[in-house]
Amino acid sequence: MKIGLEIHVQLPTRSKLFCSCPTTADEPNSSVCPTCLGFPGSRPVLNRRALEMAVQIARFLECRVASEIWFSRKTYFYPDLPKHFQITQYDSPVGVDGSFVVGGRSIGIWRVHVEEDPGRIKRVGRSGEEVSLIDYNRSGIPLVEIVTAPDLTSPDEARNFLNELLVELRHIIGTTASDEQSVRADANISLGEERVEVKNVQGLKNLERALKFEASRQQKLLEAGMRVVRETRRFDEERKVTLSAREKELEEDYGYIGEPDLGVYDLSRISAGLLEVETPLRRAQRMSAHYVVDYDKARQVVLTSMAMADLFEALANAVDPEVAMNWTLGPISANWELLLPRMNDQSTKEIVEVVQLVVGRQITDSEGRRRIGAIAMGECPTDISCAVQDEALGSLINDYLNEHPQVVRDHASNPKAANAVIGHVMKVAKGKYNSQEIVEATRKEIERRTS
Ligand SMILES: [Zn+2]
Repeated sequence: MKIGLEIHVQLPTRSKLFCSCPTTADEPNSSVCPTCLGFPGSRPVLNRRALEMAVQIARFLECRVASEIWFSRKTYFYPDLPKHFQITQYDSPVGVDGSFVVGGRSIGIWRVHVEEDPGRIKRVGRSGEEVSLIDYNRSGIPLVEIVTAPDLTSPDEARNFLNELLVELRHIIGTTASDEQSVRADANISLGEERVEVKNVQGLKNLERALKFEASRQQKLLEAGMRVVRETRRFDEERKVTLSAREKELEEDYGYIGEPDLGVYDLSRISAGLLEVETPLRRAQRMSAHYVVDYDKARQVVLTSMAMADLFEALANAVDPEVAMNWTLGPISANWELLLPRMNDQSTKEIVEVVQLVVGRQITDSEGRRRIGAIAMGECPTDISCAVQDEALGSLINDYLNEHPQVVRDHASNPKAANAVIGHVMKVAKGKYNSQEIVEATRKEIERRTS
């Protein structure tokens, strides 16, 4: 089975691709102007941010990025397209010949280009008395189209491909869940000689369903000794079937011509100004290779949050990476909702110290967990470290007092009870602290506990 996808993702810009109309509007036909309605005499002006985003995507997909691009008019007559042509890119896409690795397999990317969305047609009314309503708010919304080679081999893999691509795009251009719901794909699928194109399938779930239906339809035809007709089909979301739409147009039928109202754009300047970003899944691959930890676990960390990945890396540089991973997916993950808003250099340092103390057997595992819980609650992880500046000394005293509560109890009547703590700490710390420091710190902590 061979599947190729043409994926349309909305670029999250504030204004449309060729005019200043906002991309967000509730009321139908409220975000429109002469340009996106195609009035005679109106002139398009390119939204530079949309072009930047497309270059970022093309670079991420390891495409060869063009040094110059221009736009073309794709002519067709349909009510969703008021000027009767769509401004797109035909012979000068932003990028070509890239790839994207999913599940260990490299899927070819044929091209990445920018185009405008047409309007939206909505059919209402009873069957037989249907009325078509058109909303031009969507007319001129910037889209990036990503065309894959027919390298995908199952509906499952196609869905997985799109899902992983969306995870990365969220990080690269800041798409959101609502942008992702509106993702549309045309899918080419062939089991035998002829391929069928299923047009305009919206969302991940529908894409998988449409492909599964189409695969089994073609399978049955071939098994019955019949041939698959090369055609365009559409997916009926309610009945979950594909239906014959029309014979496929050839690209020549669109009569592409260069767009005379827009110029030639220099991409090398744009490309030079863009920063390289490390996307979540690439980061998971790097973490897995560099720290020698399980890829799925690394993936789970980065998909939870890049801040959690930062914390994992801080831990993995301080203790055994395997231990770092267990603490990240264990106590840290369990407290993550509370930890996330508190993450900074200080809290990172505190958490690393807690795990180091556990690894060094200076505190128990459960005490380590308790301290991470305390950091998550915004409390002092060791209680005493708030009273005593030196945290290592503080935790030595604190641990001893936790194990010998009678010292605190007896202190009021017999101040010499504290000598046991001092003797213990001097022995364990091997002369790191002088007796005066220990006496002072112990007194402070006992007072804090009894006050
Ligand atoms: Zn407009």
